[in-house]
Parts: sequence; structure tokens; C-alpha cells
Amino acid sequence: MTAETESSSSNTATKLPPGMVLGPDGKPCKICTSSAEWRNWKRNTTKKATHAEQSSSSSTSAATSGGASASAVAAAAALGTAVQSTTPQVECPPDVEQLGRATWTFLHTTAAYYPEKPTPTQRANMLSLLRSLPVLYPCSWCASHLKDNMASRPPDVSGRLGLSRWLCEQHNDVNERLGKERFDCSKTDERWKDGPSDGSCD
Ligand SMILES: Cc1cc2nc3c(=O)[nH]c(=O)nc-3n(C[C@H](O)[C@H](O)[C@H](O)COP(=O)(O)OP(=O)(O)OC[C@H]3O[C@@H](n4cnc5c(N)ncnc54)[C@H](O)[C@@H]3O)c2cc1C
Repeated sequence: MTAETESSSSNTATKLPPGMVLGPDGKPCKICTSSAEWRNWKRNTTKKATHAEQSSSSSTSAATSGGASASAVAAAAALGTAVQSTTPQVECPPDVEQLGRATWTFLHTTAAYYPEKPTPTQRANMLSLLRSLPVLYPCSWCASHLKDNMASRPPDVSGRLGLSRWLCEQHNDVNERLGKERFDCSKTDERWKDGPSDGSCD
């Protein structure tokens, strides 16, 4: 949820709009937001705080007494356009995109090497891994969508192909929400296990 859409939580089924994303506590959620948006928000709040400090000497402090959350939301609402992307420092904590890429890499690769005929224990472990994601995934906004999706389409842990297909569809659902192209699910092995037939990844 972004500051811009804070009051319309029914919008959560639609594409994630640009801007600062708020967590369940209504405060800006760093791990739910791209690093460019986060840095832009930090710059804006710093500027606003400086401006408020300067003007408070000649007026009442009412405008700045709404608490951290309210000022954060106001600053975030002032965003929306001009996000200034700067190159992140190396070894910075991940943002929503880096975390997403790393998680998808782990999940798709694990599915690609999952047994064709898993034992009951392997199935149970895979189910447990997948079911823990909506509970533990740090981007709460992402986790809540995943929870809804998994409720309507439960994980297929019957074997490698079924699991790869199920994950591909989950990922495509996120792609669609973010306005990205759908991935061709017949190419999951090529992407995550075998590499292209021209040998360019060998
Ligand atoms: C469970 C989960 C939920 C998420 N929810 C959100 C969200 O609500 N909002 C948000 O902003 N971000 C969310 N993300 C992050 C988002 O999905 C992306 O990871 C992030 O935006 C970076 O995107 P990217 O374009 O670099 O590629 P990614 O989407 O991370 O994909 C990485 C690579 O996977 C391959 N790929 C793409 N689609 C598929 C597919 N369907 N099947 C197999 N391989 C594929 C492509 O080669 C691609 O380069 C979520 C991530 C996860 C793991």
C-alpha cells in the first residue's frame, strides 16, 4: 500500500502503484519499497523537517505536531512524480526488488531441482517452506498478496514439474500486478536449470 492509496485498501488486488509503501502499522515500510523511492522519501522528509523547523520560529508548531507517522504520510503523499534514482551503495540492505529477485531465484531454482517423485517427507518440507512465506516474508504488502493467492491456488508439491509450474504462475501474478510481462512457463527449466540451447550459459 502506498501513501497515495492508504485510505483505499480495497485496491490491494491491483498493481502496486509507484511511491512509498506503508506497512501494516501505517508507517513507511523500507523493505516494501524500492531503494530509489526510499531515498527520495528520505530527502523529502529531511527537506520538510528543515523547512518546518525554520518556519516554526515565526508561527505555531501545530503543523509539525502530528507525529512521525502523519508527517511521513504527508511527505510520502507529496511524492508521486520526480523520483530521483541514485546509485545505491554497495553492500546496502536489500530493497523490495533485490529481495524479490533473490527470493524468486531461490524458489525457482529449488523447484527446478525438486525430485520428480518426492517422498512424503520431501513434500511436507516443501509445503512447510512455501506456507511459511506469507507469514515470514519481510515485505508485508507482498506477503499479504501471496497469502491470498495461496489460499485460492494451493501449492502443487506433487513433483518437480507441478511445483515449477505453480511457482511460475505465482510469479506471473506478481508480474501482472506490477505491470510486467508474463513469463512463458514452458521455459522455466531453460531459465532456472538447463540454460539456453545455444550453450551461452555453459
Ligand atoms: C513472493 C513475492 C511476492 C512479491 N510481491 C511483490 C509486490 O507485491 N510488490 C512489489 O513491488 N514487488 C513484489 N515482489 C518483488 C517482485 O516480484 C520482483 O522480484 C522485483 O520487482 C524485481 O523484479 P525484476 O524485474 O528484477 O525480476 P523478477 O520479477 O524478480 O524476476 C527475476 C527473473 O525471474 C524470471 N522470471 C520472471 N517471471 C517468471 C516466472 N513467472 N516464472 C519463472 N521465472 C520468471 C526472469 O528471468 C526474471 O529476470 C515480490 C517478490 C516475491 C518473491
